[in-house]
Amino acid sequence: MIDVKGYAAQTKDTPLAPWNFDRREVGPYDVQFDITFCGVCHSDLHQIKDEWGGSIFPMVPGHEIVGRVIAVGDQVTRFNVGDLAGTGCMVDSCRVCDSCQNGLEQYCSNGNTLTYNSLEQDKKTPTHGGYSNTIVVNEDFVLHISDKLDLAATAPLLCAGITTYSPLRHWKVGKGHKLAVLGLGGLGHMGVKFGVALGAEVTVLSTSPKKEEDAKKLGAHKFIVTSDPTQLESVTGYFDFILDTVSAEHDYNQYLTLLRSDGVHICVGAPPTPSPLLAFSLIPGRKSIAGSTIGGIAETQEMLDFCAENNIVSDIELIDIKDIDTAYDRMLKGDVRYRFVIDMATL
Ligand code: NAP
Ligand code: ZN
Ligand code: ZN
Repeated sequence: MIDVKGYAAQTKDTPLAPWNFDRREVGPYDVQFDITFCGVCHSDLHQIKDEWGGSIFPMVPGHEIVGRVIAVGDQVTRFNVGDLAGTGCMVDSCRVCDSCQNGLEQYCSNGNTLTYNSLEQDKKTPTHGGYSNTIVVNEDFVLHISDKLDLAATAPLLCAGITTYSPLRHWKVGKGHKLAVLGLGGLGHMGVKFGVALGAEVTVLSTSPKKEEDAKKLGAHKFIVTSDPTQLESVTGYFDFILDTVSAEHDYNQYLTLLRSDGVHICVGAPPTPSPLLAFSLIPGRKSIAGSTIGGIAETQEMLDFCAENNIVSDIELIDIKDIDTAYDRMLKGDVRYRFVIDMATL
């Protein structure tokens, strides 16, 4: 076994604290890389607080992981020692179901293995994430990272990036479309960057008037404060798509009024509590509400390559791992500009 240093939550009520644990030895198809940076996703917070239910403790969060390869198994063909490498939200899947066969491992019908708070394909060994110094991952779930981009700012692409890129590609959002990005946090700011890069007219819908200037800098064409009824009314029936990145309960019916006919409200934000949906929010105008989670491995590599070509990274604030609780508090207040990334040298 490999000794690993990390930060873990021991229960849903205890703050993160240093915790040493084991990872498996590097197998023939495995890549081991030392973690340089790990992004802080709101999903980390939902899961350490067990807000979605079923959390496995102790839990080492973190699924926006980048670093440098230090060992490869003898059957590994795509990575060498010294390469940059990344891992996002998944580390394995069944490989044989229709979804896996079609590059949609995120929808594996036999249950994929998430990077943490999940079980390996043996369905009994718990996984631990990127708030740690090193990780061992099957090479099929390791991504190539370009050395053209700032490494710390690349980490959030592994979750916030792919989670917003994948639905925009799936629904072919681009030129001629009016896209609203609801919530300007980690996911939201990547949604704006990708929406703009794909040629859509992008509007940020936000509860935070202070973020207007940032939204414009990120490339957004319009900014609407959702608590202002006049501003909100001005975009009734306006959007083709709403990319909903909100982490807390909110009223879907209210936002559905902003879609034009055949418009799609895409949920990527995952509030822990349910919110009522009226059929009459969808019926007039043949509207849809849909969901999407991360993206497949091939699509994640495509997104990383797209970012390298278009010079897209996340806007980040680098933090010391000892300040993780302060970072979570600020995240809860919507005070993230726009992704915290842990400098793993501080572990
Ligand atoms: P984040 O950085 O905290 O951003 C969430 C944003 O939502 C906030 O910045 C805020 O934006 C807005 N917001 C927060 N509370 C709100 C409320 N009560 N009403 C309206 N807006 C509110 O979080 P994140 O890391 O981007 O994650 C966002 C959500 O996506 C989380 O639920 C996370 O678990 C989920 N997620 C899903 C996937 C997936 O695969 N589907 C992947 C990653 C994350 P404003 O200040 O602009 O209003
Ligand atoms: Zn995430
Ligand atoms: Zn599968």
